[in-house]
Amino acid sequence: MASKVLILGGGFGGFYTARKLEKHAPADTTITLVNNTNYLTYAPLMPGVAAGTLDPRHIVMPLREHFRRTQLRVGWVTSADPAAQQVTVEMVSGHEHTFDYDHLVIALGSVSRTFPVPGLAEHGVGFKTIEEATALRNRIIHSMELAEGLDDPFERRSYLSFVFVGGGYAGLEGIAELLDFADDVLKLYPRCKQTGVKFTLVDIMPRVMPEIQAPLSEWAMNLLRKRGMEFKLETSVKEVHEDHVILSTDEVLPTRTLVWTAGVKASPVAASLGVPLDRGRIITNPALQVDGFTNVWAVGDVAAVPNPAMPGMPCPPTAQHAIRQGNLLGRNIASALKGGEVRPFTFKTLGSFADLGRHKAVANLMGIKVKGFLAWVIARTYHLAWMPGWDRRIRLLTDWTVGALFPRDIAEMTRIGHIPPLDQPILPPAPAKRELPAVTEVPGAPESRSGTTVA
Ligand SMILES: Cc1cc2nc3c(=O)[nH]c(=O)nc-3n(C[C@H](O)[C@H](O)[C@H](O)COP(=O)(O)OP(=O)(O)OC[C@H]3O[C@@H](n4cnc5c(N)ncnc54)[C@H](O)[C@@H]3O)c2cc1C
Repeated sequence: MASKVLILGGGFGGFYTARKLEKHAPADTTITLVNNTNYLTYAPLMPGVAAGTLDPRHIVMPLREHFRRTQLRVGWVTSADPAAQQVTVEMVSGHEHTFDYDHLVIALGSVSRTFPVPGLAEHGVGFKTIEEATALRNRIIHSMELAEGLDDPFERRSYLSFVFVGGGYAGLEGIAELLDFADDVLKLYPRCKQTGVKFTLVDIMPRVMPEIQAPLSEWAMNLLRKRGMEFKLETSVKEVHEDHVILSTDEVLPTRTLVWTAGVKASPVAASLGVPLDRGRIITNPALQVDGFTNVWAVGDVAAVPNPAMPGMPCPPTAQHAIRQGNLLGRNIASALKGGEVRPFTFKTLGSFADLGRHKAVANLMGIKVKGFLAWVIARTYHLAWMPGWDRRIRLLTDWTVGALFPRDIAEMTRIGHIPPLDQPILPPAPAKRELPAVTEVPGAPESRSGTTVA
């Protein structure tokens, strides 16, 4: 009998599950994928978008272009009833639709993990979505335009100081790229140049990037210190205000941009799907089957898949795991549909790296320490290889080449994508404050669609 497989989420985990199912599932299987956008975001390249070296469109991949048998439905998953084998989705048109399934794949990813810090939700900026990365670039340019118009150098300071919280690879790459961007464009702003820009990374841990060896982490910090970056380690943020933050040491940092990169947590939608959770992540067995079910599966950041490299621990929330889990899951479901065996997830982390800008990176490759230009070449080659589709790879290469040959682009185009009223096509300058999505919002969620201004 023909079976229906329903995949929730079109990121790395969901996309690779669909691709493998297309290849191995019986011909009469219906594959449907629900995602809140019609594209996959290659998140590891988001720091390049924030720094303006990569066009946002070039790090996303339209899902339809890569599907042969999978039907894409754009909508927001709201709840599920595993007993009835049904999932409810708020479709992009606004109406609610119920999908039936024989096998369900949950691949809804993660959102920024926040803490109840006063003022954070109101003033902090996340670094988890392409909208946030694009808005961050616009914020930096907008801050410089604003500061340039101020006579008082002290007033300029809070516009020209940027604070990142969280020194994992995402935070480190983001702050390094933005520091280079700000440094490069400063010469175009004589008054800002007089005041100077300041980038500060705050982390509760004694060092950044715990995924790499301590000497590499030290090397990375020293490199960034030489470029003017300040590190506040073993420190946390106590309060966030519109024009300053207060640290746990009671130090006050003037800033109007606090970027929150202090880790991720599983998509909160997982709690509405009737599946067992461990600290918000869906509990699975090594074959990616959700505890207590034979026809519900989970992969990627939303799933607590047992880590073959560290018994008793779940796999880390990385793309390299989500991709391998998706590939395995496509095969496992196809095998289950044919009455065959399912296999366990055995992939062990290859390592991790962080691109520090200016042709430098650090990498831990299966225990081998690599740093400098070689690590940077490895990082770029890795991303090129994993970006799905040759057209996207060529666009990336073109962006990187143009970025290496020509000066940074500082055109501030915050209004692109917003249709101005017909009788007022030329609007006054954009407001100084809150043009960024709030840090606690779940991107694309129905309740955040109206309130979020995406640049
Ligand atoms: C800045 C940054 C840098 C990173 N760098 C690296 C790196 O160098 N190496 C690495 O291995 N990993 C990196 N990661 C982590 C990596 O991106 C994630 O681990 C990976 O994307 C997880 O894949 P996933 O399929 O679980 O989730 P995702 O890729 O996030 O996909 C989830 C999908 O579900 C959609 N969705 C969510 N909720 C709903 C809903 N309710 N309804 C419909 N659709 C929904 C989302 O829009 C998304 O399309 C980075 C992440 C960030 C943010």
